[in-house]
Amino acid sequence: MSVYTGPVFEMARQQFNIIADHIGMPEGERDRMLYPKRAVTVAVPIHRDDGSTAVFQGYRVQHHLTLGPTKGGTRFSRTVDLGEIAALAIWMSWKCALAGLPYGGAKGGVTVDPLALSPRELEALSRRYMQEMIPFVGPHTDVMAPDMGTNEQVMAWFMDTYSAYQGKTVTEIVTGKPVASGGTVGRREATGRGVVHLVRRAAEAIQLNPLGATAIVQGFGNVGAITARELAQQGVKVIGVSDHTGCLFDRRGLPVAEMERYAAQHRGLAGFSAEAAADPETLLTQPCDILVPAALERVIDAGVARKLSCRILAEGANGPTTPEADEVLRERGDIYVLPDLLCNSGGVIVSYFEWVQDLQQLFWEENEVNERLGQLLDRAFHLMSTRAAHDGVSNRIAAMAIGVEKVFAAKRLRGLFP
Ligand code: NAD
Repeated sequence: MSVYTGPVFEMARQQFNIIADHIGMPEGERDRMLYPKRAVTVAVPIHRDDGSTAVFQGYRVQHHLTLGPTKGGTRFSRTVDLGEIAALAIWMSWKCALAGLPYGGAKGGVTVDPLALSPRELEALSRRYMQEMIPFVGPHTDVMAPDMGTNEQVMAWFMDTYSAYQGKTVTEIVTGKPVASGGTVGRREATGRGVVHLVRRAAEAIQLNPLGATAIVQGFGNVGAITARELAQQGVKVIGVSDHTGCLFDRRGLPVAEMERYAAQHRGLAGFSAEAAADPETLLTQPCDILVPAALERVIDAGVARKLSCRILAEGANGPTTPEADEVLRERGDIYVLPDLLCNSGGVIVSYFEWVQDLQQLFWEENEVNERLGQLLDRAFHLMSTRAAHDGVSNRIAAMAIGVEKVFAAKRLRGLFP
């Protein structure tokens, strides 16, 4: 199974082995649980604006088909590779199982810097990628969604391309679409809103008053910006924020709404304020109550973990903390960790609601979406906390163990074909 390589896949494998040991999974069953069922790589050619032709590498990995269709985002990023996509698909499986959703995990992506494309080129790439994927996806096979570097507009192009080939509108092929194209209210905000809902639960657990508490958020895209906005609305002082263009820090609090407007206009935070400009290298280790990594994988390694000075680590991003850092956090015992598997699951939960609404053509009000989101998050939070206390393990091990066990139980009951 050497087709999956690289540090992010290695991290998913390492974490899985820790869980498999913890729950006593027989050695002979482990490969079947870990390695993805299907992986597709495609060449995605487009015409550049200068008349040349460029070919990009695209991927889609479907981890397991045991519980229903697969579900997962699509990442456009300069550095993405098959190993990273496979790791993200595996994490999606445990995440969906923990939340009780009838899905296996999937992930897709294209190795491209989306900011280096013109709007026309981005549309061509998005449409051609979806067209190449048509034989492998479907509303009951594999349902796509946004991730880093993709957004509602890209999802609308995916849906339109798939629909054009079917000769009818198939909104349920992707989630995270604009509301005007069959999306659900509340999906754009769902991941950040979920992060903040869970931060409130964590704050209750450690008796931290969110009013006047301080927060630092790394990443100012869909997850980071909405998390910062929702935290500010709860009375939390957002003192540090970064994106790939810049980093801002001000102990007195940053004007989140103004920064959102600025970043949308200037495609990033760079130049927002000379006075608040700060060093991104030290952002994560500045003292604060709530730290939210909401950008990249593996930004908290053992060295960073030793220097963290927060009370709650809320993982908006997927895979921000390495297993070595986890070990440091376990020894320290003074930071409440909301693991990615739970913390950013608001996105896939509301994606599930979107899929259900599209299949039924019956649409909900935003308060119903938010209420049901809160219910599923609270249930998963309760399952994780109870299990962590019962087994005497970290929140991450508890959350992942619940997810892995659910998939494992379903696989055992269905048996091995033929
Ligand atoms: P996005 O593309 O909307 O935003 C990514 C942000 O990260 C941008 O602000 C970018 O500038 C920033 N960034 C990139 N490199 C950086 C660096 N070196 N330092 C600081 N910031 C940097 O992506 P997103 O959808 O917000 O996803 C962010 C993370 O959340 C990813 O790990 C993704 O897998 C995860 N996630 C997203 C969703 C969702 O619904 N969008 C759901 C669950 C998990």
